[in-house]
Amino acid sequence: MKLRVDEISETAKEVEFSQPGEEVNRILAQGPLSEWRLNSPISVALSYYRAATEIFFQGQVSAHAVAKCGRCAEDFEGAYAREVRFVLVPAAMGAPGETRLSAEDLEFSVYQGEEIDLGPLIREQVLLALPTRPLCRDECRGLCPGCGANLNFERCGCSHVISAPRINLGRLLKTEGR
Ligand SMILES: [Zn+2]
Ligand SMILES: [Zn+2]
Repeated sequence: MKLRVDEISETAKEVEFSQPGEEVNRILAQGPLSEWRLNSPISVALSYYRAATEIFFQGQVSAHAVAKCGRCAEDFEGAYAREVRFVLVPAAMGAPGETRLSAEDLEFSVYQGEEIDLGPLIREQVLLALPTRPLCRDECRGLCPGCGANLNFERCGCSHVISAPRINLGRLLKTEGR
């Protein structure tokens, strides 16, 4: 999605569009979030306006993503959304952050030329929307370290007696055997 800079006015405008997820998936595959893959286009709803040379954006990005759960190793799908708020300043104004407010919790970026390509900005926001550790749900019980049973679906005999007492017992028997 591209916006012409000279068509952005001081009156806020709304825009809704969807952006293909392929490019995000390429980035995901190479980075620390390689567990994740988008399986839907990215939905974007933004309102934007100009104040002097700065262009303010506010809205939401969302997408569906699949991953293997970090606890139970099951594949799952989730919907992930992020409220976004960022400001674009002309590149000619110098690096953002130096002279400008860092007090506000706004993300700054720069624009250059006649058009603003929202694609890279949206991709960055989607990557931020994904949790670093994929979990099928917060309360996922994971796999039993003893027998590998998925504790979300089944109970197993060993899950609560594994660990210290059992190891101590083994050591004790060995000592007695000498
Ligand atoms: Zn899980
Ligand atoms: Zn078990």
